[in-house]
Amino acid sequence: MANSPNDPHSSSNPPPYIGRFAPSPTGLLHIGSLVSALASYLDARAHNGKWLVRIEDIDPPREQAGAASAILHTLEEHGLQWDDEVSYQSQRKAIYAEYLAKLRAQDLIYPCACTRQDLAKMNGVYNGHCRGRRLDSNPKHALRLKLYDLPKSTNSYAGDDVLRFSDLVQGEQAQNLRLAAGDQIVKRKEGLFAYQLAVVVDDIEQHITHIIRGSDLLEVTARQIFLFRILQKPVPRHGHVTLATHTTGQKLSKQNLAPALTSQNASANLWQALAFLGQNPPKALYTAEPNELLTWGRLHWELTKVTGMSASISP
Ligand code: GLU
Ligand code: ZN
Repeated sequence: MANSPNDPHSSSNPPPYIGRFAPSPTGLLHIGSLVSALASYLDARAHNGKWLVRIEDIDPPREQAGAASAILHTLEEHGLQWDDEVSYQSQRKAIYAEYLAKLRAQDLIYPCACTRQDLAKMNGVYNGHCRGRRLDSNPKHALRLKLYDLPKSTNSYAGDDVLRFSDLVQGEQAQNLRLAAGDQIVKRKEGLFAYQLAVVVDDIEQHITHIIRGSDLLEVTARQIFLFRILQKPVPRHGHVTLATHTTGQKLSKQNLAPALTSQNASANLWQALAFLGQNPPKALYTAEPNELLTWGRLHWELTKVTGMSASISP
């Protein structure tokens, strides 16, 4: 059926805004993760968009028991109510396998037999050492995805080594996939699907249009955009918010034991997160109810006020 001008699904209409927060349940939420969650929430709500929550429990050895439900509880206590049902990557392995098969069919996947020592000699960027290996020689090998020098038959993506994109917060970005990323593991030798595959599959399947998240993930964005392109799916817009540092300038992380957020401090936490995001919340709101703070945040939200970091990921 042809699209009529009034058809909401007409290809000339921009897709509805769908954003998401996708924590890995490796620990409790701290102020740094609240800043990321709040930025994606407010950007979605300010666009009258949907905001989804996805628990990225794809890596059991790194997970902490009870963290997933504690994260959801903390979001709720801070008034960050999501749309639809929470999705869990641990329940979606069949879909990741389907996408892996699509990539295999394009001759983009090969087994990697490199040892830890082999990899240590490569300065952090995989050099394509196992590209000549044939699939299913040994099911215990990791599987890698080619990011450059693609087979001639590869559908749409005429791979230039340098992938460029415009980040909503950090501005123009470029990364050389050969020199700075290297072929990516999509399935680990223990049989676990890799985050780099799962995150893109889920963003595709959930029709995510905007990914607002912490700037620690700026570095892996080009390789994720590559996957959208190779799968011929619409690429979401990205905005990378500089991760929270304390007023002392110290980076907050689970590693340096940033304190877990508590519900008694929900209002103060939200106020601080708004201030960190450059939104200048009025002092009078410091003790307001979370919902009042969130309403203020939605009405005054300006992504352009969020500070970017000066460094880019260019090699
Ligand atoms: N699960 C990832 C993390 O917590 C974030 C994934 C994403 O936002 O793309 O670091
Ligand atoms: Zn290898």
